[in-house]
Amino acid sequence: MIETRHPAKTLIVWYWRGYVRRQLPLIILASVLMAAEGGALGALSYMVRPMFDDIFVAGDRAAVMWIALVVFGIFIGRAVAGFSQRVLMTVVARRVSAQLQRNLVHHMLKLDSGFFQANSPGKLIERVRGDTTAAAGILSNTFSAVGRDLVALVSLLGVALSVDVVWTLIAIAGAPVLYLPIRLLQNLVRKASRNAREAAARIATRLDEIFHGINTIKLNATDEYEAERFDREVENYVRAEVRTTAAQAGIPAMMDIIAAIGFFGVLAYGGLQIIDGEKTLGEFMSFFAAIALVFEPLRRLGQISGTWQTALVSLERLYTVFQQRPSITSPARPRPLAVPAREADLVFDDVHFAYGDQPVLRGASFRAEAGRTTALVGPSGAGKSTVFNILTRLVDPQSGRVSIGGTEVREMALEELRALFSVVSQDTQLFDETIRDNTLLGTEASEDALRAALDAAHVSDFVSRLPQGLDTPAGPRGSGLSGGQRQRVAIARALLRDTPILLLDEATSALDARSEAIVQEALERLSEGRTTLVIAHRLSTVRNADKIVVMDAGRVVDEGTHEELLARDGIYAGLYRLQFASEG
Ligand code: ADP
Repeated sequence: MIETRHPAKTLIVWYWRGYVRRQLPLIILASVLMAAEGGALGALSYMVRPMFDDIFVAGDRAAVMWIALVVFGIFIGRAVAGFSQRVLMTVVARRVSAQLQRNLVHHMLKLDSGFFQANSPGKLIERVRGDTTAAAGILSNTFSAVGRDLVALVSLLGVALSVDVVWTLIAIAGAPVLYLPIRLLQNLVRKASRNAREAAARIATRLDEIFHGINTIKLNATDEYEAERFDREVENYVRAEVRTTAAQAGIPAMMDIIAAIGFFGVLAYGGLQIIDGEKTLGEFMSFFAAIALVFEPLRRLGQISGTWQTALVSLERLYTVFQQRPSITSPARPRPLAVPAREADLVFDDVHFAYGDQPVLRGASFRAEAGRTTALVGPSGAGKSTVFNILTRLVDPQSGRVSIGGTEVREMALEELRALFSVVSQDTQLFDETIRDNTLLGTEASEDALRAALDAAHVSDFVSRLPQGLDTPAGPRGSGLSGGQRQRVAIARALLRDTPILLLDEATSALDARSEAIVQEALERLSEGRTTLVIAHRLSTVRNADKIVVMDAGRVVDEGTHEELLARDGIYAGLYRLQFASEG
């Protein structure tokens, strides 16, 4: 969905307006310095003429000093200009890519979760890091080369033309012939570098999956298989990179062919004119120096077009991300809740939802009453988690009404809506921060409030045994804590948030009996006085629930209390025997 084609002009205008233009003062300053650096070449080749004609041929002793001083001055000036210009352009390129990275991440944070499902973390990481840097390559390399080399080119051609127009025409006669092959090479570079960027993204994706799935890989003994997959991706990447570089290198090679034709022609024609005394030695040497020097900037300018193609590919990939608009947004005129949040019923009315063309909810309807606990039960895949995602608007349903206290969730401001919920789920995400930061999650609770939440959630029990206490890092994705511990941190989080609505996804994953009891107790405390919707896997939960909603294949097929449902001997009774009965 992300790789659409955009014309280069669109991309460049976007990059220029959004990022480069604000660096204009620095760019102008750098350009002046670049021009000075480039112009120095023209000046040097110009100086070759008096050097030969006045000093070597005419033997003018007075000329030695001033010519030497002028040449000295040109070199010093070139050194200063070249150095400053490079530093300035690095500043510009870094600033531009940093700004692009910031904007990109801000933008991505607003996109729907569907976007992150369609684009793997590795791919996106590569986009934020690799593509922004590659795009800035236009500035640090290309920009300077154009500013400096174009001036060099013009000044050197000026010197050459001042010596002899016909010679100059002969020298560059090869250029038009090679125009087409160079265009072809440019297209090749663009294609090859697109492949290379894609291969880089696939490598990042593989790494991400390997590092996150390391235990699964070990347990299933698929390390060989994973290593082979990785090897293949690396090979692909190397191949794509070599192709890009080869195509890029082809362009300066073409320039050399132009140079070969030019030198051959000028020597054959001009050499004879000197022998015949039509031109001075100084004129020929000056011309020769100018043309010899002209091919270097010309070569670099030729290379630039390759860099441009590479950078355009990255720009395009960045641009398409910015083109993505979140579909889940606050309405233009959000409506507040009509009733106090703690008195608001949660209502699903004939809700249909599908992932692509796979239906998940097919007309689900139920009511979860304010201040009560409603248990969702049903076979796996019935759509229970989807109910949570729709309530919190991680996804929007295709049709039907989802309302809180009579206000449709879509009509509320997103922040206001999400501030109503705490979600404690099986796969609670902890971040690679301390337990304290993981609990606070950016809120500014007092130390006392934090303590109270940690105690109530039984986090204090295990934290007190950790050497660094609350300041112990939770590890990547919370991997330093056990499942039960992670869940307790999540409960403490929810207690601190103190929201009117609680969404619980009970763990099916094995907690040992002791930590299950602890978690259970903490959850009960948490749900007191809150409207609680719980995906239930435990007998005790369904028994204590005020209402049980039975889901199957995206529909609500029954509801009632535990006793009522058992008496009806429907799907719930079957589920009960299968799932809960062993708990006795
Ligand atoms: P439950 O919580 O009852 O086990 P879910 O609501 O998680 O069920 O999922 C319901 C259906 O939706 C399942 O068939 C699942 O395969 C599908 N599903 C869930 N998430 C996604 C997704 N991100 N993309 C595509 N299909 C999904």
